[in-house]
Amino acid sequence: MPKTLFDLSDELIQRIAFFVHDDHEVPLPSFNPHWANFASEIDPSVQQDYLNLRLVSRRLRSICPLQNLHVKMITWQRFMQWSLHCPRNVRSAVTRLVFNLPYESMRIYQRYSSPQPYHAWTTIANFLHSLRNLRELEIIDSPLCTHYHRLTPDWDEISRSIHPVQSLSLTSLSCEMACKRCAKNLPLLFLQLPPLSNT
Ligand SMILES: [Zn+2]
Repeated sequence: MPKTLFDLSDELIQRIAFFVHDDHEVPLPSFNPHWANFASEIDPSVQQDYLNLRLVSRRLRSICPLQNLHVKMITWQRFMQWSLHCPRNVRSAVTRLVFNLPYESMRIYQRYSSPQPYHAWTTIANFLHSLRNLRELEIIDSPLCTHYHRLTPDWDEISRSIHPVQSLSLTSLSCEMACKRCAKNLPLLFLQLPPLSNT
């Protein structure tokens, strides 16, 4: 009879690890209709116990790969750190992402230059493209929305000027911004994807 966790087979440890990672309890899509519930179920704390388990030993790290990560981008500084320095294996492990990067966040980060929403979107589109296993994306705000600052001409010009988003594994997209113009038009930037199951 096994005496410790390390006496178990790899298959049994992986089975235990599956239940340690709470992502298995989060439905896809995790978002609800706005009239029902605004709360997001994308929550980085769901993976904390799994990450702690991986820290126990080299063997556990090898048989329990980094996977099903929930990530929230809520400052431009954090986004740029991920965009510039995040290793490929971590990017590949991200399956659910919340994006809440208003234009103001970018303006604060780039305080000594004139931030360009179009360039920012190109960086975001490239980053999303690098998340090969991203399944669910919730956009709460984006730097493309400068309508309150009266800096952006209109969405027709945006759609002609900027990068569409290509993220082949994405199946669920939620755009929750308060700006009506962006809420209506931002999803159009994802139209080159294979058909989404949930929007
Ligand atoms: Zn807007």
